[in-house]
Amino acid sequence: MKINLANIKKAKKLLNKSECVAIPTETVYGLAGNAYSDLACKKIYKLKKRPKNNPLIVHYYNTHDLKKDCKFNNTFFKLYKKFCPGPITFILDLNKNSKISKIATNKKNTIAVRFPKHSVTRNLLKNLKFPLAAPSANLSSKVSSVCSADVKEDFGKKIKYVLEGGKSSIGLESTIIDVRKKPKILRLGSLQISSIKKILNKKVIIKNNPSKISIPGQFKLHYSPGIPLRLNVKKIKNNEAYLLIKKIQKTKPNYYFLSKKGDLKEAAKNLYSTLRKIKKNKYKSIAVAKIPNKGLGKTINDRLIRASKF
Ligand code: AMP
Ligand code: MG
Repeated sequence: MKINLANIKKAKKLLNKSECVAIPTETVYGLAGNAYSDLACKKIYKLKKRPKNNPLIVHYYNTHDLKKDCKFNNTFFKLYKKFCPGPITFILDLNKNSKISKIATNKKNTIAVRFPKHSVTRNLLKNLKFPLAAPSANLSSKVSSVCSADVKEDFGKKIKYVLEGGKSSIGLESTIIDVRKKPKILRLGSLQISSIKKILNKKVIIKNNPSKISIPGQFKLHYSPGIPLRLNVKKIKNNEAYLLIKKIQKTKPNYYFLSKKGDLKEAAKNLYSTLRKIKKNKYKSIAVAKIPNKGLGKTINDRLIRASKF
């Protein structure tokens, strides 16, 4: 993507004044503020209507800046070298003298950190004197935003500026991994567990059971389009929208396809925008046909299961 320096300058100016700005990332758009500023972090929670006990992911340009704020180990380094910048979030121990706002971490002594790959946001981070606290740019418990229009739809004029970066190339949130002791996946994401295991060459614990909440991001209802959604449906009811992984020949106006031929990457990229489109088209509920539970399909199913707890 071509970088518009004037836009970055505008975002920087607002962020320097502890205002919130939406930023593009390869996973989803983020609602960003200065992670060292209590005021900026408070504004993020208020705008998103986010529960105060759900800490924020902090975005860095590289490990040089991270050193001041937290401790890291070999497990972190192995994954960082292979996957960063990219769609992986690490849980690390905070340094005692870290400048990170306690509002961002909900007074925990841990922090979630990520190094986004999107060129526009990397350029912005490089130009700032602080990291950016940035949860997904959507109202709490609702579907994430994958383009600037989604952010504007959710926040309207309440948000001072949306930094344009086109449609997010991945469309699903990052994989969260606690690397402090035995590596533990806390949220399935766009980075596959198999590739993490391959790099670490050891057991990776998966603690992502939707019925057991180990981090606030696993709250029951999440990623919700705002209307009821049911899964593994073979026969739809009257007036339901039908969401399918791949295009079928006998289509109807209420059928929505996530991909042409069942490609999971394409389906992930289209998931949230299709859910938003169905809601906008005034359907009262969504029936989802079975989605293969392998690779990225596991993450898509994870999001849809949470979205179904209406
Ligand atoms: P979001 O940015 O909206 O995708 O959500 C951020 C996710 O990171 C949530 O699931 C949080 O609960 C999780 N998170 C943030 N900080 C921490 C932390 N210190 N320990 C565990 N999980 C965290
Ligand atoms: Mg979120």
